[in-house]
Amino acid sequence: MLGFRSCLSTARRVNLSFPTKMDTFMEAFEYAANRSKVLFGSGTIAKLPNILASRGLSRPLLLSTPQQLDQAQQVQKLLSGEAAGIFSEATMHTPVEVTDRAVEFAKSTKADSLVSIGGGSTIGLGKAIGIRTGLYHITIPTTYAGSEVTPILGETSDGLKTTRSDPSILPDAVIYDVDLTMTLPVGLSAYSGINAIAHAVEALYAQNTNPIIKMFAQEGVRSLAAALPEISKDPASQAARSSALYGAWLCGVCLGSVGMSIHHKLCHTLGGSFNLPHAETHTIVLPHALSYNASQVPHDMQRIASALGDDRGDAISGLNALLDKLPVKRGLRELGMREEDIDKAADIAMTKAYWNPRPTERDAIRELLRRAWAGEPARADL
Ligand code: NAD
Repeated sequence: MLGFRSCLSTARRVNLSFPTKMDTFMEAFEYAANRSKVLFGSGTIAKLPNILASRGLSRPLLLSTPQQLDQAQQVQKLLSGEAAGIFSEATMHTPVEVTDRAVEFAKSTKADSLVSIGGGSTIGLGKAIGIRTGLYHITIPTTYAGSEVTPILGETSDGLKTTRSDPSILPDAVIYDVDLTMTLPVGLSAYSGINAIAHAVEALYAQNTNPIIKMFAQEGVRSLAAALPEISKDPASQAARSSALYGAWLCGVCLGSVGMSIHHKLCHTLGGSFNLPHAETHTIVLPHALSYNASQVPHDMQRIASALGDDRGDAISGLNALLDKLPVKRGLRELGMREEDIDKAADIAMTKAYWNPRPTERDAIRELLRRAWAGEPARADL
C-alpha cells in the first residue's frame, strides 16, 4: 500500500495536477471499472498457457491477419501445438462474411476459446466471434488503437459499417506484451499512437467524463507523447515501446468508458463514407478538432498541454509540435480525399451529430475539414 507522501511524489513525477487548495467543487459523477483482467510487461505472453488452464480451456482458436501469421504461429508453439487452429484472415472493418467463415472454423475445430493477436482489425474479429459464440476471449494487442478494452464492435456488411456496444463484447483478458509490438513499423506506430491520444483528448471533455478517467487520459497522453518521438528515432527502444503500450492501455480505457465527440464523429464520417484509413485520419484531424473545441474547454486544454509538455500551456501548439517530430502525413488530400468531397463530409458530419462541448456549426466544420484536407497547421481561430 502506498503512503500519502509516496502517492504525492508519484503524482508529481507523472505530472498529474492536484488542486493545492479546496477551491474546486467536486461535481457528482458515475464511474464503472473496466472488468478485463490486464497483464502488462515484457515476456507476459508466457502466462497465456496458465490463464487458459486456470479457466479449464485447452483448445483456443488463434486469430491474426495474414501479415501477423508468424506471431500467431509463435503463440501456437508456446501452447505446444495445443490450439484448435489458426484463422489468419482478419481484415480491416470486420467484414461479416469473414466472421461467418471464422465462426464455422471455430465450430469445426471444436475451439473452446479465442486468442486474438494483432491490432484493432484482429481484435474486432475476436469480438465478433465472441459475441456470436460466447467463447472466452483473450487478446494480445500489438498496436495502440485501444479496441482490446472497449465494449464496442464495428462490422461491415454490403459496404455499410454498423457499430454496437455491449458489455459482453469486451474481451475477458488482455496481455500487453511489449515484445510483440517491437515489429510495428515506425509510421504505423506514430499513427496508432496519435489515434490513442485522440481517445484520451475526447474523454477529458466527454459529457459523462469523471475524475478517474481524466487521470487515465492525462497520463495516457503523457506516456504516448514522450514515447512516440523516441520510437521514431529508435524503433528498438524497449523503454519507449513499453511507455507507448502503457499509454495505449490508458487511452483505450478512456474510449471504452465515456462518450466521444466531434473528432470521432468526423473520423467515422471520413472512414465510413470516403474509405480513408483509420489511424491516419485520426492523426490528421485531431489538431483541428482540438482547435474547434478549445474555447469551450479551457481547463481540459491546459491538462492536454501539460501532458504534451508544452511550456506555454497551449494544447494546439503542443500537438502540432509533437506531430512535427513524427513521420506522419498532415493533409487528408495526401490520403486520397478529393477537394469536392469536403462539402459532402461536412453535411454528413451534421447528421446524427455526437454530443460535443461546442454545438456542431456547419461553416466552422467545413473550414475545419478544409484545413485538415489542405494539411494546414491547426490554428486557434475556428
Ligand atoms: P490494424 O489492426 O488494421 O493493423 C494494421 C496492420 O498492421 C495489419 O496488417 C496488422 O497485421 C499490422 N500489425 C499490427 N501490429 C503489428 C506489429 N506489432 N508488427 C507488425 N505488423 C503489425 O490496425 P489498427 O489501427 O490497430 O486497427 C484499426 C481497426 O480497428 C479499424 O477497423 C478500427 O475501426 C478498429 N478499432 C476499433 C476500436 C473499437 O473500440 N472497437 C478501437 C480502435 C480501432
